Amino acid sequence: MYNPKSDKAEEFICHEEILSTLKYANQNKNNIELIDEILAKAKLRKGLNHREASVLLACELKEKNTEIFQLAEQFKKDFYGNRIVLFAPLYLSNYCVNGCRYCPYHAKNKTMLRKKLTQEEVKREVIALQDMGHKRLAIEAGEDPVNNPIEYILECINTIYSIKHKNGAIRRVNVNIAATTVENYRKLADAGIGTYILFQETYNKQSYEYLHPTGPKHNYAYHTEAMDRAMQGGIDDVGLGVLFGLESYQYEFAGLLMHAEHLEARYGVGPHTISFPRIKRAADIDPNAFLNGIDDEIFSKIIACTRISTPYTGMIISTRESESCRQRVIHYGISQISGASRTSVGGYDHDDREHDSEQFDVSDQRTLDEIVRWLMQMDYIPSFCTACYREGRTGDRFMDLCKKMQILNCCHPNALLTLKEFLVDYASDETRKVGQALISREINRIKSDKVKSLTEDYLQKIEQGSRDFRF
Ligand code: SAM
Repeated sequence: MYNPKSDKAEEFICHEEILSTLKYANQNKNNIELIDEILAKAKLRKGLNHREASVLLACELKEKNTEIFQLAEQFKKDFYGNRIVLFAPLYLSNYCVNGCRYCPYHAKNKTMLRKKLTQEEVKREVIALQDMGHKRLAIEAGEDPVNNPIEYILECINTIYSIKHKNGAIRRVNVNIAATTVENYRKLADAGIGTYILFQETYNKQSYEYLHPTGPKHNYAYHTEAMDRAMQGGIDDVGLGVLFGLESYQYEFAGLLMHAEHLEARYGVGPHTISFPRIKRAADIDPNAFLNGIDDEIFSKIIACTRISTPYTGMIISTRESESCRQRVIHYGISQISGASRTSVGGYDHDDREHDSEQFDVSDQRTLDEIVRWLMQMDYIPSFCTACYREGRTGDRFMDLCKKMQILNCCHPNALLTLKEFLVDYASDETRKVGQALISREINRIKSDKVKSLTEDYLQKIEQGSRDFRF
């Protein structure tokens, strides 16, 4: 029986409820009155439930689809402004005991060169990332209790935070590791992580079990209930995602929103982020072998419908996607992107891309400087801000800021300050020129005179060598 407040995976992600939602969405895909009603509700900016959102996703009316995309663009501007937060993944270890059919790290892949960073190597990777200008990382590891126990992950986090190279610093470490215990989540919370990210891969239990035939990840309930344990362990910010291509996108979309509804119902705060990965070619993985692949059109619509259904949730797109795809979907609600990523273990410390330990092919291979310039040329503010969680604005406190639309007085100046640091410390001459012009324009959009004058003061101090100002 469907129950968003339940702590049982199969009750808060209820298969029958998803099937009935998909049927309802299909029956109403051309029901203009209902679609108008849902769009009117969306405009109240309080979000949509999985049923309403699924009708919009199924909608076939051209005019209404245009409205959906326009509304998504508007929401993005209203809630997140024109900031795009930048981060990079850091692969710690590709040892893995699971058997995931879509991932080259699976235990049976004997061609994969297995690597695990030593603390000295972590340090070298972090210095390379700091030298590009990164301030925020997402650490990634396979699941292997012997090679990558929680103690190893904690030691790496400690090392990462401790490295201060030139003006560099990693100020927020998000963590993408396998589902674990409340006790281990508590240890991660105590280590000062930002968001705990775990992709569900697929919400369909039967497909899930087929796709994860062996290893601890086979357990659907344990995986699906991981965010509950993370919250019980004191992690305020959790990040959801499915790997699009494994199951029908309509099923996954309804599942994702039900998961968000569950977190809201149970803990009073929805997911901090939702990621949108699509399956990619990798060592012994052919994405064409998966029959549920989606094209850019549907991908964009999923992103737009998510934006208007969960207006306060950050949305992430990685370098799995090409420049042109990222350019398209950024407008419909993406708030964070990765840049200059290497998906191999130890990949940042080498000039050439190493393919023998890579998790998947990276489509967008531009440098961070190129990505920063590209964003600014589209009038976005690349942001390296990590202020919220360092100021204790996590979980519902961050959502509050978002709901009160305080972003222009807080996140906006923080974005400008961290961009300024990037321009002074790491940018090419060309990027710096574009950036200075953007900051001069954007500073006039700060609403409070006090915040504006403080920002001007901080910007000057950054020129003179001070760092890490924040609101
Ligand atoms: N091992 C951790 C776990 O079990 O959740 C997560 C780390 S893994 C490095 C991060 C994510 O990469 C996975 O959750 C999966 O969705 C994604 N991934 C795996 N294989 C992929 C592929 N071939 N293409 C794109 N993404 C992939």
